[in-house]
Amino acid sequence: MATGARRKIVAGNWKMNKTVPEALALVRELRAQVAPLGDKVEVVVAPPFVALQAVHVALEGAPLQLAAQNCHWEASGAFTGEVSAPMLAELGCAYVIVGHSERRQFFGETDETVNKRAHAVKKAGMTPILCVGETLAEREANRTLEVVERQVRGALVGFEAADVAKFVLAYEPVWAIGTGRTATTAQAQEVHAAIRGLVARLYDGETAGRVRIQYGGSVKPDNAAELLGQPDVDGALVGGASLKAGDFLAIVKSAG
Ligand code: PEP
Repeated sequence: MATGARRKIVAGNWKMNKTVPEALALVRELRAQVAPLGDKVEVVVAPPFVALQAVHVALEGAPLQLAAQNCHWEASGAFTGEVSAPMLAELGCAYVIVGHSERRQFFGETDETVNKRAHAVKKAGMTPILCVGETLAEREANRTLEVVERQVRGALVGFEAADVAKFVLAYEPVWAIGTGRTATTAQAQEVHAAIRGLVARLYDGETAGRVRIQYGGSVKPDNAAELLGQPDVDGALVGGASLKAGDFLAIVKSAG
């Protein structure tokens, strides 16, 4: 499938930011300005759990999709503090971010739990945004492709080609997240192409041509166009710059 056939996807990961009133103010601004940008780019926002319901209502009829930042793999049960995939689907989430490096680093997420969460997301009728990426030590030890390959293989265990074709993968080098350090376009393209090649080996060329691969890691209005212009970069997962409507919209615009 030609690169142009994949619709770009830009998602804002708000992390643990924005109270409900702040979240509403931001989505109202986004809603007002995102429509004139047309439908070339799919735009997604991932507020904290507590703001999902209010943001869902505020986004009704808007060309913006809702995502959650994580979910548990069980549908219900004695898992204090956790939120399940069916609960998120009910709130209007289309996507769930799974395996973000902050969850891997700070909350013990493993390739196995990432895979279990991804299955729960799919079972609930949503799409996972599966995050992978190497640490600085791993990059410096020339282990980037090996690490990313292990994470992608782990995340996709038990999925069929038809599932994977609809998934979003996010390559996010850990050393670039929230640091102001961005991968060069060549570094990003190299890893994205390797991931697509791996999907082709694990499944087939058509699936590899359809799966969308976002880049994440200090994407800002001034570097987005170059990164998003790479043939295997199908969008961006944006942290810090998604908290300001102007910056996020500028990144969306550079994807279009
Ligand atoms: C992220 O949280 O996924 C991310 C890429 O953050 P930032 O854009 O702030 O580096």
